[in-house]
Amino acid sequence: MSSLVIYNAKIYVEKGHFEEALLAAEGVIRSVGSNEEILSQAPADARRYDAAGRTVVPGFNDSHQHMQSVGEILSNIQLLGADSIGEVKRRVREFIEKNHPAPGTVLHGMGWNQDYFKDEHRLLLKEDLDEMAPDYPLILERACGHILTANSPALALAGITGSTVPAEGGAIDLDEQGEPTGVIRENACSQVLRIIPPATEETLDAQLRLAMAHAAECGVTSVQSMDMRPGKWRETWAAYQRVQAKDPTVRVYQQVNFMEPVEFRQFLSEGFHTGMGDPFLKIGPLKMFADGSLGARTALMRSPYHDDPSTQGMATLTQETLDEMVEIATEHDCSCVVHAIGDGAIHMVLSSYEKILKDGKNPLRHGIVHCQITDRPMLERFRANDILALVQPIFLHYDMTVVEDRVGKELASTSYAFETLRRLGVHESFGTDSPVEDMNAINNLYCAVTRKNLSGEPAEGFHPEECMDIYDAVDAYTYESAYVSFEEGVKGRLKPGYYADMVVLSQDIFTIPADEIIQTKVEATIVDGRFVYER
Ligand SMILES: [Zn+2]
Repeated sequence: MSSLVIYNAKIYVEKGHFEEALLAAEGVIRSVGSNEEILSQAPADARRYDAAGRTVVPGFNDSHQHMQSVGEILSNIQLLGADSIGEVKRRVREFIEKNHPAPGTVLHGMGWNQDYFKDEHRLLLKEDLDEMAPDYPLILERACGHILTANSPALALAGITGSTVPAEGGAIDLDEQGEPTGVIRENACSQVLRIIPPATEETLDAQLRLAMAHAAECGVTSVQSMDMRPGKWRETWAAYQRVQAKDPTVRVYQQVNFMEPVEFRQFLSEGFHTGMGDPFLKIGPLKMFADGSLGARTALMRSPYHDDPSTQGMATLTQETLDEMVEIATEHDCSCVVHAIGDGAIHMVLSSYEKILKDGKNPLRHGIVHCQITDRPMLERFRANDILALVQPIFLHYDMTVVEDRVGKELASTSYAFETLRRLGVHESFGTDSPVEDMNAINNLYCAVTRKNLSGEPAEGFHPEECMDIYDAVDAYTYESAYVSFEEGVKGRLKPGYYADMVVLSQDIFTIPADEIIQTKVEATIVDGRFVYER
């Protein structure tokens, strides 16, 4: 029972190898071959899907993002793509008019980026938000998630004044009078975000379902999602268990965030460990943050910023704590992935790993998320110890406009070195860091292959020597992402024994000119042999 046949297709098996048809039963691929072979094997009651010659690839596996935040954004004020402060104001007002929140309700928005503002290129300030929503505490997080702006009622509710001491590794910006400007950075953000009342089980589940529906639309069949955070990891795990218990549409590998040993040890002592769970919901690695973001100049650099020599960014962990956490994780057979964007932060994380890895082997598959600002010797250090790189090609869309300003031309030329990493043999997987960027897998592939922004610029691509071949890009997004979660034997290929997780595309991304990849549509998404999205 429950068999699926896909025929008249161009099924991507591996580089240079395509087949016409595929048979899946009970959620697992049983055979691939010619139309004739497969149709003759198919049980009478199998669903038959005529792909009309279209291309079928393994479902995309987003190796790092944040499902719950995606769901929260889809249900809160959405500021992604706002191209002016005026537009931010309009969206906040529209949200209030549409939802009529009770006065005093904390309003929360995410996704703004001042570099996209056409009216004024500056961070949002308290006064802007006071004007938008005088009757509500309002918090608007920047797209990077490392900076937020709060209005006066929100600051008052959080008890933030000019004399509040920011959390270590964070900052509360003050004006000339010593009053908060409303801008809060890095670790201090939690001092404001705590005024948001905890989501009820119902809202949490609804948020996850919204995000999962969006993943299906994007052709994403697996996500490696960081939602379990200090203080609320039990609730988040329970929400995922509830949601996945009923018709799950995306497989989830949970990256669990802790920044200090006490709570992490508690988590481990309750029996949680990497790989625990079932094919739709697993505990993944320990996730930590070593620095901030490039846009906000909080990414930790080895040298001062080219466009602001007063700063080198900030470390959000000390080397000692990072070493200790990696050590505890390793002792407990728990994988680690660490957010590191600047070369200073990447150096810190590589150093922690180098202290515990032996003979160039990395059996727990420890990795670094983002890996943006790098020089050649640093890339070589990934290879030497087989350290995984979890990268986001879509970041090029925005970052190529600031990276030379931030780090200078020379260091920029060896950064976002996706093709070099691959050639070195580094296990390199793709993600979107959604909601930082949309979960759109096609745009992500397009950026990896063309090194252009979504408007097609620059014409020759940003450091085109780092353009990836479309086959390698698809493999990074499927097979290599599966490698991160130890699932490369069941995910990321369309071969017998693998999960029937796949995507039907509107055009043949393997043969069309690279510039046309961006116009590709996801026609259908199949998870566990079931259609979870059809255009
Ligand atoms: Zn992230």
